Amino acid sequence: MKYSLFIGGEWVTGPDQEYFPAVNPYNQEIWAEVPQASENQVIQAIDAARDAFETAWSKTSGLERGRLMNRMADLLEADAQRMAVLETTDNGKVIRETKTQMHMAARAYRFYAGAADKLSGGLFPLDKPNVLDYAKKLPLGVAVLVTAWNSPMALLSNKLAPALAAGCTVVIKPSEHASVTTLEFAKFVEQAGFPKGVVNVVTGDHRVGQWLVNSRRVDKVSFTGSPGVGRKIASDAGRNLTPVTLELGGKSPNIIFESADIDKAVVGALAGIFGATGQTCIAGSRLLVQEPVYDIIVERLVARAKGIVLGNPLDPGTEMGTLANQPQFDRVMGVIRQGAGDGAVLAAGGKRAGGVGLEKGLFIEPTIFRDVENTMTLAREEIFGPVLSIIPFKDEASAIQMANDTDYGLAAGIWTTDLNQALRVSDAVHAGCVWVNTYRASAMQAPFGGFKDSGFGRERSLWALDEYMTYKNVMIDFSGEERDPFAIRG
Ligand code: NAD
Repeated sequence: MKYSLFIGGEWVTGPDQEYFPAVNPYNQEIWAEVPQASENQVIQAIDAARDAFETAWSKTSGLERGRLMNRMADLLEADAQRMAVLETTDNGKVIRETKTQMHMAARAYRFYAGAADKLSGGLFPLDKPNVLDYAKKLPLGVAVLVTAWNSPMALLSNKLAPALAAGCTVVIKPSEHASVTTLEFAKFVEQAGFPKGVVNVVTGDHRVGQWLVNSRRVDKVSFTGSPGVGRKIASDAGRNLTPVTLELGGKSPNIIFESADIDKAVVGALAGIFGATGQTCIAGSRLLVQEPVYDIIVERLVARAKGIVLGNPLDPGTEMGTLANQPQFDRVMGVIRQGAGDGAVLAAGGKRAGGVGLEKGLFIEPTIFRDVENTMTLAREEIFGPVLSIIPFKDEASAIQMANDTDYGLAAGIWTTDLNQALRVSDAVHAGCVWVNTYRASAMQAPFGGFKDSGFGRERSLWALDEYMTYKNVMIDFSGEERDPFAIRG
């Protein structure tokens, strides 16, 4: 399949269009060709979004915006199985997860569709009578949405849904490592009947992102990806004073206290790191375990990790898929080698996974290091793979100190049956998203985002609408009083 760009409601390719391959990480086959947008095509996409904002979308009622978004959600839900197969083929995430994510994405469009006609401002009582003061919320304009490869549809919905509901038009740039579902999704935009140019998709490598972010004709940038690129984007956008939302990486502590329900905590720790093959920003990659339960937790986790079923990500029985692409595979293997060199004890995995059906895939065994120190590279760098570092701790104070001794602040897990401890530790950990006795659970109603190097701004919840809006205050004086500052009184 050879794809085109989606610009101004048309499927576009140039006479000298360059393409790059979509590679299936399970069998290394090239299964689609994706256009590498030129700078000119990026400018066209921004122009189309600008035009659609001024002539159509900013004049479309919230009710109508919501209706179109609900239609788009219907189309995505009806096609969830096919979309899940495409996403799994693109990034190796197991089909049971990609299918769930299609429904989560549809949920996001519905959530914000319901909000699109309720974007009220405020009326402010002033000190003087007969002066009316009110503020309106207004869409920022053209939003650039840049996403990562690990969950293209879910990550996009966190941005696109509030942006459209707020009244922004958008140019989307998916990752060059997994672009296909975003292009397929544009077909739903078309079928739902959105005005041309409200949603545009340009694909390609980092240059496409740079052209978008550096444009002075863009009013907002929302980015999901690595902290290094996030810094670059913040600085590029900062030159134009374009506001940004950054959803970046994590090195999240998952803390098991001695009072925890051990069965639940083991499952939570396992899901926290081996779900999505560890390729998730919220991976609970640092497992802090209190000393009295340390050995039993390590033992049970190692046994469970060894039993995880690896296989074709399209097979519903497969529990863990591949690494998403070759550079990612090489990077994770490199960190594993370094971890062993730093003195952590390898308790499970640590190698490329082999066996029947795994020969060509970018599989890494579920890997566990025990007796890790929080200063080791394993505990400091985001690995973004199926690698768990287990760190013992003595008491609550030392657990909190280690949990917070990191550059990141995206998520944290707490396993305890002591409610006071749950509340104390939730308050003390520096993370935008804290789970107690659960992990990797998400809800559209609740805000999501990080502290420190994990970024700023929030996605999901009604608060995310404010990422795409600005405010206009209007003061009307009908008191009849003159306010001449130069008048001579008395
Ligand atoms: P990445 O930063 O390498 O790339 C992300 C996107 O940015 C891609 O589309 C890429 O083409 C584009 N890009 C690269 N350089 C750019 C530039 N200078 N200007 C504009 N765009 C540019 O990240 P990745 O490898 O695709 O994804 C993995 C990272 O994403 C991890 O750090 C992970 O934690 C993070 N992530 C965060 C969240 C979250 O919600 N916080 C969710 C998923 C992934």
